[in-house]
This record gives sequence, structure tokens and C-alpha cells, in this order.
Amino acid sequence: MAFRALVVEKDDEGKTHGSVQTLDEAQLPPGDVTVAVEYSTVNYKDGLCLGPGGGLVRSYPHVPGIDFAGVVEASDDPRYKAGDKVVLTGWRVGEVHWGGYAEKARLKADWLVPLPDGLSTRAAMAVGTAGFTAMLALMALEDHGLKPGAGEVLVTGAAGGVGSVATAILAQLGHEVAAVTGRPEQEDYLKGLGAARIVPRADLAETVKRPLEAETWAGCVDAVGGAMLARVLGQMKYGASVAAVGLAGGAGLPATVIPFLLRGVNLLGIDSVMQPHDNRLRAWERIARDLPMDKLEAMIAPATLEDLPRLGAAILKGEVRGRVVVDVR
Ligand code: NDP
Repeated sequence: MAFRALVVEKDDEGKTHGSVQTLDEAQLPPGDVTVAVEYSTVNYKDGLCLGPGGGLVRSYPHVPGIDFAGVVEASDDPRYKAGDKVVLTGWRVGEVHWGGYAEKARLKADWLVPLPDGLSTRAAMAVGTAGFTAMLALMALEDHGLKPGAGEVLVTGAAGGVGSVATAILAQLGHEVAAVTGRPEQEDYLKGLGAARIVPRADLAETVKRPLEAETWAGCVDAVGGAMLARVLGQMKYGASVAAVGLAGGAGLPATVIPFLLRGVNLLGIDSVMQPHDNRLRAWERIARDLPMDKLEAMIAPATLEDLPRLGAAILKGEVRGRVVVDVR
């Protein structure tokens, strides 16, 4: 049966081009579950896979889309049957394997998570990998002792996908959120998600001059990395933790070890791609419970398969606000 997909091809000069094409089901890769995809989204990594960058895609033609939600169409695995609603993030789907920018996807049952009750396929992709990762970051901070009332929790890259969801969930749980943004025009949006105050990106942009500054933050969800993460480490309260999620501002870490040694600061690495299944279930259950749906709705920009090449370029330039939800049908 024919279905539509956003296919990225590479020409003889090594340039990549994305276009919406009609494919046949026989072209799908092997796998034990076939899913009728309803929604996907645009993450930073999708921006890389839609263009030439990143070296993430191994072979062309390629169908990107690192996450999707949809309905099982056929399954050879006893855990899933036709009609089940599922969500997929990670496992290098959309990079090494064909992904969610298509009306159909075929993959390993092990990679899927049943959609929790109360979460639609559209809401699941409004959350997407970015929001799922924001929840993993929050769970890691909680596991290291963060509680509401402990003080301000910093969210960097706040108007982006990870940052928007982190801001909304933290605020919903009673944390006081300080949102770092380089886009002052997003102040109303961020306050609407629950941020108590806005920290201009420029305030944290300079590289570390003093290894320790005033103890300010009770926790941090960091989507930016680089010089900003290094600065933030020196501003954490005694024993507080930073969940390192992203590198929108750079992969380097021009820091000193002093905050670890003198303030017992913890730097927690967050990976969503190879996350064990049990923790995935726990995170999706928490998302269904703790993320207010009206705030999620405020983050959504709708899109179609045709919009993806443009949106892929935009997210790499930090121009996408909140969460894009792609209706692939
Ligand atoms: P977005 O592009 O939606 O958000 C990133 C935000 O970072 C931007 O909106 C902007 O926020 C800020 N930003 C961008 N460039 C800079 C810069 N040069 N200096 C400081 N801030 C900057 O991406 P996502 O939220 O989807 O992803 C964020 C990061 O997390 C990415 O690096 C991504 O690769 C990573 N990630 C990691 C995962 C994991 O498993 N560890 C999973 C998902 C994402 P503002 O305009 O508000 O300043």
C-alpha cells in the first residue's frame, strides 16, 4: 500500500534535498511492528538529519523523524496488537533507521512505549523527545533531592522545546522557575508557562572568571551547555544538581572542578536515546500526570510534511519556539 513520506536524498555533489514522496509499504525497513503514524515533531536533531549536518544519517534515501506517535497497524509481537496507541523516541530511529516523517513506520517492538491513558497522539508529539527529555531531567534532579521550596530552579534555552516543557512541569510542581532566554520578546510566553522570572541570556554568556559566584540556583535543567553551563555550575547552591541535557550553545565545557569540590555540586548527564524501557514508562506516566495540557497547548505550532525542510533549518538557528507538531497525514 502507498503512503506519503518526507524523503531526504543526496545528490552526486553530496548535497541533501528533502521532498514529500509517495512510497510503497514494501520499501519499509524490516521490523515486527508496523505503525500508522499520526504525529511527529521537530527536534534539534531532526534539523541535522533534514539537512547535511551532524553525520547522524548513514545511508540515503532517508526518512527522518526521531520521534512519532500513532496507532499499531500490524504486529508480530505479543505485546502489541492492531489499534494500540504507541509513542516512539530514541533508539536512533530517524537517524540510522527510517523515522516518523511518514504515514507508516516499521520497527522493533522493544523500542515502542504504550501511550499512557489520557495522552492523545497529538499531545504525545507536542511533548516529543524534547519534553520526554525534560521529564528525565526533572526525575534526575528529584532523585538527587530537589524539592519544591528549595529555591529558584534555572532552565536554560527556556523558549526552546526542552526548556518550554521543563518550565511548565517545574512550575506545575510548585518550583520557582528562572527562565534563561536570548529572546526577550518571549517573556510573556515563558511567564504564561509558569516562569517566575526571566534571566537574559547575556547575563550568563560570559566565560567563567571566578570559579564560585553567589549560591543562587537550587537546581538547573540545562539545554545549552558550553560557557553557560560552566557559569551556572559556579552559581549552584551547596549540594544542588544540574541536569545536562543539551548543547545548543556549544559542546565544550570551559569550567573548573571547584564547584564539585567545594560545594558538592552534581552534574547529571541526561540521555533520552538509549534510556531503559522501565524509565521510559515512568517518564511518560509522569508527563501524563504532571504536565498541564493547557500549557502544552500554548507551546504548539502546527505543521505538515511539506513544512519540514524549512523548520529543520529554523530549529538549527534557534528560531523555533516551543514545540512543532507535525500532522503527517
Ligand atoms: P530548541 O532549538 O527548541 O531549543 C534550544 C534553545 O536554546 C533555543 O530555543 C534557545 O533558547 C537556546 N539557544 C540556542 N542557541 C543558543 C546559544 N548559542 N547560546 C545560548 N542559548 C542558545 O532545541 P531542543 O529544546 O529540542 O533541544 C535543546 C538541546 O537539547 C539541543 O542541544 C538538543 O540536541 C538537546 N537534546 C538532547 C537530548 C538528550 O537525550 N540528551 C534529547 C533532546 C534534545 P532561547 O531562545 O530561549 O534562548
